[in-house]
Amino acid sequence: HIKKVNENYFGAYSSFGIHREMLSDKVRMDAYGQAILKNPSLLNGAVVMDVGCGTGILSLFAAQAGASRVIAVEASAKMAAVASQIAKDTGLWQSKSQSEGDSLQKGVIEVVQGMVEVIDKTVEIQPHSVDVLISEWMGYCLVYESMLGSVLYARDRWLKPGGAILPDTASIFVAGFGKGGTSLPFWENVCGFDMSSIGKELVKDAAQIPIVDVVDYQDLVTSSAILQTFDLATMKPNEVDFTASATLVPKWDVTEDNTMHLEYKSCRWCYGVVLWFETGFTDRFCREAPTVLSTSPYTTKTHWSQTILTFREPIAVGFVEGNADKLAAIGTDGCPAVKIDVRISIVRSTEHRSIDISLEAVGV
Ligand code: SAH
Repeated sequence: HIKKVNENYFGAYSSFGIHREMLSDKVRMDAYGQAILKNPSLLNGAVVMDVGCGTGILSLFAAQAGASRVIAVEASAKMAAVASQIAKDTGLWQSKSQSEGDSLQKGVIEVVQGMVEVIDKTVEIQPHSVDVLISEWMGYCLVYESMLGSVLYARDRWLKPGGAILPDTASIFVAGFGKGGTSLPFWENVCGFDMSSIGKELVKDAAQIPIVDVVDYQDLVTSSAILQTFDLATMKPNEVDFTASATLVPKWDVTEDNTMHLEYKSCRWCYGVVLWFETGFTDRFCREAPTVLSTSPYTTKTHWSQTILTFREPIAVGFVEGNADKLAAIGTDGCPAVKIDVRISIVRSTEHRSIDISLEAVGV
């Protein structure tokens, strides 16, 4: 069964449409481009491994940045062939027969076809001899597709002690959304007709299954909080699955002059939470030019969008204008809530490359 799932998964990556979508995602490309190209002291002369090279774009960046050798690993046979061709066309390909001592800029990329977990016999490299491990492994809600495990495997097998991993941190964020984040407003007025019964049905269905879609930051009704942070350099492979809690409070907004004010008055309904992630190319390894890849609703949208988890019942949260102390006062009456405590677990499904998410939310 796992073999079949992998065939489907790598089969999907054989379609060029996915690669075009990723290569057109400017936020993604800028972050990786900056991390790899603007940190010469890390990349210059380095032995690099690119886990899941796809078209080979990150390997091309690494070669451009002066890497001495780039091992581009790709499970999809079709993409591995394409990546070799592209590296060849750009003059950055390594042929097995090429003699040592060729110019550093030419022929540094070698494409290895196979899952990174099983390339031992294919690749001529000693374990623990890679200086920099690069990968773009993130899926929806960060861990959908479960590729992180493969990157950690590659880290433990091929990376030198103290070697760099890009990105080196990954965080999942959570925030509550209001009615505008649901399909209710649309169905309430269709050419002037009330079709809200459809909207209600959809909101009920959404309580069962997460939705990947873009959320406007203006539809957030609570603060955002970090749910979980992974340190890719040190985390253990079994830490990919987690349960974590966060507290969400009615939303404050920072105005342009940077003074804080409460954006809303009175009470609003929170219909669920939205999840997104950021990965950090921190100054631990990217000393010259650290950067962050953010998929937040507050920044330019990416092909990851956000992940929407809908509550079975909306929770009323209170807002009072101007004074934080007054917030606490509302809660003593019992309603509306002054904060929402959420507890979320995200666990890789053992059967296929999906994830199981569970969410508990309590207004207090
Ligand atoms: N690095 C490319 C592609 C990223 S998509 C880019 O940034 O554009 C992830 C790629 O990793 C896919 O092409 C997929 O086939 C490959 N992949 C996923 N898991 C892998 C594994 N365990 N071993 C090798 N390749 C893998």
